Amino acid sequence: DIRSFVPSSNCLDGKTILVTGAGDGIGRVAALTYARYGATVLLLGRTSSKLEYVYDEIESLGGKQPAMLPMNLEGATYAEMQQLEGLINKEVGQLDGILHNAGVLGQLTPLEMYDVDTFAQVMKVNFTATFMLTQALLPLLKDADHGSVVFTSSTVGTHPRAFWGAYALSKQAVEGMSDIFTQETQNTTNLRFNCINPGGIRTNMRAHAYPGENPMSLKTPEDIMSAYVCLMSNESIGVRGQVVELQPKD
Ligand code: NDP
Repeated sequence: DIRSFVPSSNCLDGKTILVTGAGDGIGRVAALTYARYGATVLLLGRTSSKLEYVYDEIESLGGKQPAMLPMNLEGATYAEMQQLEGLINKEVGQLDGILHNAGVLGQLTPLEMYDVDTFAQVMKVNFTATFMLTQALLPLLKDADHGSVVFTSSTVGTHPRAFWGAYALSKQAVEGMSDIFTQETQNTTNLRFNCINPGGIRTNMRAHAYPGENPMSLKTPEDIMSAYVCLMSNESIGVRGQVVELQPKD
């Protein structure tokens, strides 16, 4: 079971993994954890100072030297993502996994009143940019022996919920994209696609969505990392097209 997986030390040795939204929240902890298990981590995010901090944290825990890839997914163009593919190819020479973790909440309001510019922004960051980046990096991912693409969904992505607007719709689209990529690639490549639904986790985003909640009642990003490691490691070869729910009761 992916949720109770116990990773062996160095199970990500030799792998290069890109993490989006690596500067904060779940993405920061995933980047640190991947480095701890031996991966070379590429830190993509929109706030350079946060990426620098994570970079230093990885160095001080003795991880392999990471790379910082500052990119604002809201405004990023496909050409920039293709340049990124060229840069990774030239400087690192391989890409074994992507954790698509960057996300924004948008408004919590009825669709009738949803601000259309905010709607477009949420769809771009959570869904469209995720698609564009995956497509741009596919040449490298398909070259990996056992590549793994992990998307981040949400309970409101699996079951749309009133007032969750663009966030819920973007996550539904992400789950659909993972399914379509799986169908389109399963007979032609070892590359696998899956979604993680972390459930309620103690981060800034969760605090914005549930301001009245006691954060101490929630699991932390550290508590859920075994599934994040499992889906990137060779232990999950053969796991395809799943939505892995980490807190099914949520
Ligand atoms: P946080 O808000 O704590 O972190 C989100 C990260 O995404 C930040 O590093 C942020 O960068 C980055 N990001 C946001 N917008 C952009 C952008 N335009 N370009 C590049 N990077 C961007 O959220 P969480 O850690 O809680 O969430 C991580 C993922 O997990 C999200 O996809 C979220 O939807 C999902 N999730 C979270 C749950 C929870 O309870 N926490 C529950 C279900 C799903 P910066 O810090 O620079 O703003």
